[in-house]
Amino acid sequence: MDSNQVLVNSAIEQLRARWPGAQDSVAAAAVRLEDGQILTSVSFDNFNAAATMCPEAGAVAQAYTLGKRVIASACVTNGTQEGTYQVLAPCGICQERLAVWGPDVLAAVPGPEGTNTWDMLPLRALNPYYWATSFTADGHWPSTTEHGE
Ligand SMILES: [Zn+2]
Repeated sequence: MDSNQVLVNSAIEQLRARWPGAQDSVAAAAVRLEDGQILTSVSFDNFNAAATMCPEAGAVAQAYTLGKRVIASACVTNGTQEGTYQVLAPCGICQERLAVWGPDVLAAVPGPEGTNTWDMLPLRALNPYYWATSFTADGHWPSTTEHGE
């Protein structure tokens, strides 16, 4: 099976494990590390919306904690029909989180409306005018180390 499909399937499995049978707007994510390991996490919901976190946040923080590079990310939520799902593109904040590992990090994005397909695109395609390149000497995408400075 294609490694990207494995990643999406991991997010779906996490979603269904955490909220079996749920049809509301919960979501889960999976990230693949450069060594092939997959980490998963779920959205953190809270009565206070300011305390919520995107599904990717947990897995991204875990990768960073481990000192490992994320090379791909996928986020899913329930589809409109029971048992289906849909891929969600990373929000702007999650794109910022993933940007720590460079413009080649792949992110799952939904396909054309009504197709129930998805694709993997590098961050540079999602964000061709990445703002942080304005703060590096030669306009390059900041490295992981530079992101932490
Ligand atoms: Zn997000």
